[in-house]
This record gives sequence, C-alpha cells and structure tokens, in this order.
Amino acid sequence: MSMDRRKFLNLGGLGITSFTMSGFIPSSSLQEAKNRGSAISKINPVVVSTWDAGLAANLAAWKIIGANGKALDAVENGVMVTEEEINCCVGLSGNPDRDGHVTLDASIMDHEFNCGSVAFLERIKHPISVARRVMEKTPHVMLVGEGAQQFAVAEGFTLEADKLSDDAKKSYEGWLKKSEYKPVINIERKQSVSQLDPSFMAPHKLSNGEWNHDTIGMIALDSFGNLSGSCTTSGAGFKMRGRLGDSPIIGAGLYVDNEVGAVVATGQGEDVIRVAGASAVVEQMRQGKSPSEACKFVVERIRRIKKEKAKDIQVCFIALNIKGEAGAYALHKGFNYAVHTNDGNKLYESSFVD
Ligand code: ASP
Repeated sequence: MSMDRRKFLNLGGLGITSFTMSGFIPSSSLQEAKNRGSAISKINPVVVSTWDAGLAANLAAWKIIGANGKALDAVENGVMVTEEEINCCVGLSGNPDRDGHVTLDASIMDHEFNCGSVAFLERIKHPISVARRVMEKTPHVMLVGEGAQQFAVAEGFTLEADKLSDDAKKSYEGWLKKSEYKPVINIERKQSVSQLDPSFMAPHKLSNGEWNHDTIGMIALDSFGNLSGSCTTSGAGFKMRGRLGDSPIIGAGLYVDNEVGAVVATGQGEDVIRVAGASAVVEQMRQGKSPSEACKFVVERIRRIKKEKAKDIQVCFIALNIKGEAGAYALHKGFNYAVHTNDGNKLYESSFVD
C-alpha cells in the first residue's frame, strides 16, 4: 500500500473503527502550504457525516472537497442537500414544536475559530447558510428567532410558507391526540448497517412511522489541511416552543480546532450541552486519544451522569482529527455515519455502550 493511501483500521478490542493516513507530513510543510493556500498532494480530503442521510450529503461535499475546494464550502453545501430533502426530518420538512411550528437550529465553524449559528429560526429553507452569513457578515456568533429571520430576509433568503410537510402534519396530528410532553429523540436499537438497502441515500422512517433522526452534522478535512464543520436540525420533535438543542451551540453540538480535530454531535441535545460535548471530545483528542476513543470517553461520561435514565436517550458523536482519522461512538446501538474518502463513500455502524 502506498504511503499516502488511507487505510481502514479495526481497533480490535474496542470495536472501534478508524481511518488513518499513513503518509507523514512535517508540520512545517503543512503550515507553509496553508499559508500559501495551496493544496498539498499528500493530504487526502475526508468528509464524515451523521446517519445514512450523510451518504447523499457527502456526495455534494465531495464535489467541492474532492476538487481541492475548501472544507467550509463542502460542509455548508453538503448539509444543504439534507435541508432541502422533502421527505426528511431536517429543515422545513421536520417535525414541529408542540405548538405546530417548525423551528430550526444550525451552526458552522471553520479552521480559524470563525463560527456562526442560528436558532429558533422559522420559515427559512437553509439555516446553515444563514449561520454562515452570521459568521461572515456580523460581529456576532449567534442569532435567534425573529432577529435571525430578519437578518436572513435582509440577506436575500426567501421567507417560505408557514406550513408543515405532509409527513410532519401526520406525525403532529398523531402527537396531538395525547399531547404528552415528551420530546422525541429516536433510538434505533434494532437497525444495523447491514440491514440497510445499500442504494439507500435518504433518511428513512422507523417502523412506527417516525423519523429516525432530526439532524445532520458534517465534518471535513480539505486538501489544504483545514477542517470545518456544520450541523443543522429541526430539533427534538414536539419540543416546547423556544427550545434550543445542542446543534446551534458552538462547543456543544459542533466544535473545530484545526490543531486537533472537528466534532459534531447528534441525539438528545440537552445531554450534549450538559457536558459541552463536541468541545469535550476535541479536548480528549488533544490529550492523544483517537477520534473513536475520544467520542467513547465523552459518551461514557454522559452514561454515568444519566445513570438508569441513559436507556431513554441516544447521544452520538462523530470526530475527525487533523491527520484525517475518523471515528464515532454512541450510547446505544443503531447510530451510523457516512465517510467519504478517495476510496469512496461508505456507511459505517458506530460502536456503542448499550
Ligand atoms: N441534537 C438535536 C437536538 O437535540 C436532535 C438530533 O440530533 O436528532 O436538537
């Protein structure tokens, strides 16, 4: 195998999967190339995203990153595919809050600690792009609610109709029968990657008709050696009006430190926020852990905090370090993630505590 070829490693005992790039790049040449803004031939780009919807999102990201484009553009354009998907749980087709309105959260972060997010945003198709505008065009990191919407409209985004998708309407009507306040974060205990139709490129529903998840997160390394990340969600279905999850919170749902790595979370946002999840995983990688080990460490911390209640929630992280190694870990079985390298676009089943 050539020196710069990515290898698939199975870290036996831990059941952890990881990708690594064996070609060694002296940090001085890395820095030099970054300064020049030129792609280093030895840096193979990688895109990692959450869930099976990540396969389609990765393809869009790869069009950019595989052609020596920037990670930031890749992670924005990648998740836009999922935001736009009509039969999907992310974006305006997602489940509404308990008052019947879809409210969206999104965040984006680049390799230089620039970051932007929007939360409690209504009637805008691409919250991820609004988050990027917040990052690039305002002195702020986060805009919420009406202010975020005003900003989006001023930036030329279309205000869409305040209307539920057919699927969301059905789910909401079902939920209204009991109106039980129980925000939904699904746990797909039975699903395994081998049971998925390999041609399957879109988010799918569970047998009870509910979406299998509500979020897409994406992290990427480009051929300049720069990392970026994005995360976009309709949040927990039937949440209280005004509720924000982890996804728009930099350090919780998403974090990028170009010296170390990039991390994105999905699952029960409240429990990711509690431990500053994505940032905690980055710090574990900084201490020398592999991406999978770092995710595992923080998932286990959440498991300890939640005690017996851990069985009722799902929390998952994906991580990518600056060397191009990727990994993931979840509280329960059923989480999968999509990885695109020069070797193709594949879906992997995450290791888990259970
Ligand atoms: N983390 C998201 C939230 O809590 C939901 C998800 O990942 O499905 O809003």
